Amino acid sequence: MRAWVVGRPGPMASGPLELVEREVPVPGPGEVLVRVEACGVCRTDLHLAEGDLAPRRPRTSPGHQVVGRVEGTGERVGVAWLRSTCGTCRYCRRGMENLCPRSTYTGWDADGGYAEYVVAPADYVYPLPGNRPAVELAPLLCAGIIGYRALARCDLPPGGRLGIYGFGASAHLTAQAAIAQGAVVHAVSRSAASRELALELGAASATGGPPPEPLDAAILFAPVGELVPPALEALDRGGTLAVAGIHLTDVPVLNYERHLFQERTLRSVTANTRADGRAYLELALAHPPHVMAVPYAFEEADRALGDLAADRVNGAAVLVMA
Ligand SMILES: [Zn+2]
Ligand SMILES: [Zn+2]
Repeated sequence: MRAWVVGRPGPMASGPLELVEREVPVPGPGEVLVRVEACGVCRTDLHLAEGDLAPRRPRTSPGHQVVGRVEGTGERVGVAWLRSTCGTCRYCRRGMENLCPRSTYTGWDADGGYAEYVVAPADYVYPLPGNRPAVELAPLLCAGIIGYRALARCDLPPGGRLGIYGFGASAHLTAQAAIAQGAVVHAVSRSAASRELALELGAASATGGPPPEPLDAAILFAPVGELVPPALEALDRGGTLAVAGIHLTDVPVLNYERHLFQERTLRSVTANTRADGRAYLELALAHPPHVMAVPYAFEEADRALGDLAADRVNGAAVLVMA
């Protein structure tokens, strides 16, 4: 089969992704072999290609928003970021498997979906409907699920004012989920096209920042630590800023009075539990969001990641198998 692998991690201009031929993987006990129809492109894939996240094994295929069919049964499934957890540690036992120290991740600890086939533990794949376009389902699997967890983690009160910093794949789905719950959404993005998309999807404002009113909650999607102080400063008393990404550049020095006092909270979002994934997919399949999918041919994975690195993707990039 054909597969993209991260050769030598580095800037996209250095060509870290290589298209190779390898054997179709053989599923082990409890695993399924999935023929990939489409795989969403996530900023985490870019972090892995560029080396912001250190590789955990050599020449691994990225990709953790896989829509495909189980070989043998034909069942449509989604393969997402969380690949396995131990099930026995204190975090797993208290419903926080996203914090499991022995958790593994698709496209990092094992080959992911930038390939014609992927294997995944059956207990960690999500059933998907057979009649929806793969290109619209793929972004739900990380952009959607992680955004959903970030929305829960930012403690937005009912009808509250939510700031969204960075308006890419995850933000455009999260904004729709928040607006459906009655939130007033203010988008902050340096991209004019993303700001336009935010307004089309129902945001109350979209600016280069700062937002036009104090915020009850905010989510930082851009992997930019310099945005943490202004985002904290834009919170109203008691507000929470959740950082959605797996990687963030260093956060500058904070001033207690300006950034944290009045019970403002800064917190991270770390992966997701399977319960988050099931809850989000149930919601998103019952009330489908408008998915701004930007399709790329499978052979164009390096171009897709290059476009993501250069802020040229408006919506969610998806690799599509011919
Ligand atoms: Zn992701
Ligand atoms: Zn565990």
